[in-house]
Amino acid sequence: MWLPSTNPNFKQLRVTVVGGGLGGLSAAIALRRAGHLVEIYERRDFDVEVGASISCAANGTQWLREWDVEISDMKPIVLKKLVMRDWETGNILNQYNLDKYEKEWGNVYNMLHRQDMHATLLKAATSFNGKGTPCTLKIDHICESVNAEVGIVGFSNGQSVQADLIIGADGIRSAVRSQIGVVPEMKSAPQTCYRVNVKKSTVDKLGLVKYSYDPAIQFWGGVQGKNGRSKYYKVVMSPCSGGEIVSFYCFMPTDLTKHHEEGFVFAEVPVSDVIAAKYDELDPDCVNLLKNSVDRMPWRLYVHQPYTHWFKNKACILGDAAHPMLPHQSQGACQAIEDAAALGIIFSEKYNFTTNISAGLAMYENIRKPRATRVQNASAWATENLNERIGFTSLTPHDTSLAASEGKLTINEMNSYKMHEHVATEVASLARGMGSVSAVL
Ligand SMILES: Cc1cc2nc3c(=O)[nH]c(=O)nc-3n(C[C@H](O)[C@H](O)[C@H](O)COP(=O)(O)OP(=O)(O)OC[C@H]3O[C@@H](n4cnc5c(N)ncnc54)[C@H](O)[C@@H]3O)c2cc1C
Repeated sequence: MWLPSTNPNFKQLRVTVVGGGLGGLSAAIALRRAGHLVEIYERRDFDVEVGASISCAANGTQWLREWDVEISDMKPIVLKKLVMRDWETGNILNQYNLDKYEKEWGNVYNMLHRQDMHATLLKAATSFNGKGTPCTLKIDHICESVNAEVGIVGFSNGQSVQADLIIGADGIRSAVRSQIGVVPEMKSAPQTCYRVNVKKSTVDKLGLVKYSYDPAIQFWGGVQGKNGRSKYYKVVMSPCSGGEIVSFYCFMPTDLTKHHEEGFVFAEVPVSDVIAAKYDELDPDCVNLLKNSVDRMPWRLYVHQPYTHWFKNKACILGDAAHPMLPHQSQGACQAIEDAAALGIIFSEKYNFTTNISAGLAMYENIRKPRATRVQNASAWATENLNERIGFTSLTPHDTSLAASEGKLTINEMNSYKMHEHVATEVASLARGMGSVSAVL
């Protein structure tokens, strides 16, 4: 239960979260714990949640722990290695050892199954256990309109809700984003992905590759290869769901897939779509696993430029709605979690932003946009050069001018970041600039 605040300027907010994905649920947890009344509006029920692995590095795990989320319910596999393999032979080319990861960064690197992660976050948001008032969830509510000045969200079923704070966590095709006047600049990525799963029972029955269950992310390809094979060919494999599922992301050049035109259909595809083109040259062990896969779904990728703004009056965006990124740093969900954490801190009783929502959202954008943009850019660089991925040392010089000027994203940068301190510093600096501390401190 939430206890009355000792800050006389603190006001309990009515918060509407649009979208009950990983980012929306994280925001709901952070804000309920900060003492607010949160309602989550989701357009569908959750039967169609995408089932694939999500890596949750220390910078994401940190917040799950701070929020007392039962990480063990997510059936995590704690990662110990990143392994780069040769496309054709599967021989190991490079390894990044994560043995000392927890000691160094204070949190483990979890590999999760999206459905386990989603179910656990949903429970943490809505449960009577835990700090704050349980959030409520309304499904079958498709957001159509947002009046950011007065704080009203309208849904396609004719209903509407008024809130002090509106959070658009409605993903890559965000309605809230367009309602606050953001015009996305995006283009189709040169690379397309299929994600597939192989069940543990299948791996065991067929006596497939023994390292399938290794607590590691394994990469094949991602570099220019023989016979004109482009760097866009890449396979990423990792176990999740307590080792019950081995999850694959299979990348290839977009123009060689059936998905390069608009009208893309999100529906299961035959195995021949996945192991098309140069996949006949792929490590036979890996091909065997792919041939015995289930849940083969296409995933169309886009390159997004950073947006002009993330908020207007009482409404903001977070997660994929604010900074959609390519998957090559495995940070999309972690960055959504960091957005949620920032909102929870900024609208906590420690500060006075609950009586000035748009000042709080300006602080949120100020705290989060530079860091999320950096990860967004680094995810694009890692599409072109696998060595730009966090964790791998640079075997070759950075090959894009942006990467060269900004420097490679590092594990240190991601995991040693102290958000509480960052917010405190920015708030103090804002207060100094205003010549008065009362407005924000
Ligand atoms: C296949 C795949 C693999 C990934 N792997 C990783 C990884 O390893 N590590 C990592 O950190 N990230 C990964 N990501 C990225 C990560 O999943 C996303 O960045 C993260 O889920 C973003 O969360 P979100 O809540 O912003 O958006 P979403 O998870 O997309 O949630 C948006 C929610 O809003 C709802 N919604 C949409 N429109 C409306 C509307 N108009 N009204 C109401 N509700 C609406 C949707 O139904 C959905 O539930 C991966 C993504 C994919 C697709």
